[in-house]
Amino acid sequence: MVYQLDQKVSPSAQPDQLESSQVFDEHESNVRSYSRSFPAIFSRAKGAFLYDTVGRRYIDFLAGAGAMNFGHNHEAIKAALIEYVSNDGLPHGLDLYTSAKGEFLNAFVSQVLAPRGLDYKVQFTGPTGTNAVEAALKIARRATGRSGIFAFMGGYHGDSLGSLAATANRDHRRAAGVDLANVTFMPFPAGSMADIDTLGYLRTILMDTHSGIDLPAGIIVETLQAEGGVNVASNAWLRELRRICDDYAIILIIDEVQTGVGRTGPYFSFERAGIVPDVVAVSKSISGSGQPMALTLLRPELDLWEPGEHTGTFRGNQLAFVTARVAIDLFSSERLEARTTENDRLIETFLRTEVMPLDRRLEVRGLGMLWGLDTAAIDPTGGIARSIGRRAFHDGLIIERVGRNDTVMKILPPLTIEPEVLREGLSILATSTKAVLRP
Ligand code: PMP
Repeated sequence: MVYQLDQKVSPSAQPDQLESSQVFDEHESNVRSYSRSFPAIFSRAKGAFLYDTVGRRYIDFLAGAGAMNFGHNHEAIKAALIEYVSNDGLPHGLDLYTSAKGEFLNAFVSQVLAPRGLDYKVQFTGPTGTNAVEAALKIARRATGRSGIFAFMGGYHGDSLGSLAATANRDHRRAAGVDLANVTFMPFPAGSMADIDTLGYLRTILMDTHSGIDLPAGIIVETLQAEGGVNVASNAWLRELRRICDDYAIILIIDEVQTGVGRTGPYFSFERAGIVPDVVAVSKSISGSGQPMALTLLRPELDLWEPGEHTGTFRGNQLAFVTARVAIDLFSSERLEARTTENDRLIETFLRTEVMPLDRRLEVRGLGMLWGLDTAAIDPTGGIARSIGRRAFHDGLIIERVGRNDTVMKILPPLTIEPEVLREGLSILATSTKAVLRP
């Protein structure tokens, strides 16, 4: 890769030897994907910056796909991790009782759940979002004795078979190689369905004894579809969904894997609607450090598991518990909710004043620190978005594309990003968009 002379180089970065991607091209499976959009070799990360092996600096609007809400190598998180490891704390613990897990649980219950009036049992699942979703779907089926699940068009819940059945993306589904059964997709109020009474339709299906669709065990939903193209459900819509679930004794599962841990402002994204889900899937940024970790939160009466029924070797990632404990403190001590509200305004204002005037067909959507710039009305094939992403990467910004045909530039910086860095990243996005739309 050839770099421009004016590209920023970190003064402290030590260029190392691995400057060619040959080893990956030759030996790593074709399934790799992010590396195709961002073909540098990364070696260091700090705050909202990544650095590659030739010392080039990138602003990170990808943030580990939502796993790095607290930024890379936050000093307080790093210090706790180093101390734990140097004191020979357990590196691995299955689901044994450990001090690291106990301290996390105490903090999570007293600082996250209790102040919000939430009463959940905490299930530690395998440390991925998809496994937290698998557990949620299983328990909804167990609790109701029904097998069906309603999911929403555009939704993404993971790539293992149970959660994949609830994932809408056809390319991902095709990879399963088997029928993905027991999930019925309902319209989400976005895009071509924006003007439809989506929940009126859903309610009719439940009400009509001749609708042809059986009552489901659970309804799984993202309050803001992230991978699906940054589609925000309104508070009124979420409240009506809660009412529907109450009316028909359906388990409401909120997938907070990407929207949780402050991404949209409050700790959980459902808080804005004043609703309480029956089951919540949490992962990505819960550990605060990028350490894999996932939780399924269950209303106590739904904790119907027999011991060991949903097990997994890596449910006890002790390093994740240690850093998650610190991240819970940081959420309040760093005023992340208030900062996210301020940044929400900064991002929206910037996009509306600096980017949207470039072409009146551009659309902007989002909430908190999760925003989308949609180019679909200009180029529904995603070619324009791909060019903007490439140009942005060339100029030092890492930004993912999501939605149907990847037409939406997804703005997902760490919540801890400094406002001037956020502005710099947005400026790169504006310049890249301008360069592509008005060459
Ligand atoms: N649910 C949502 C909403 C997600 O965004 C993701 C990951 N992008 C998942 C589930 C799956 O998480 P994981 O990749 O950790 O399995």
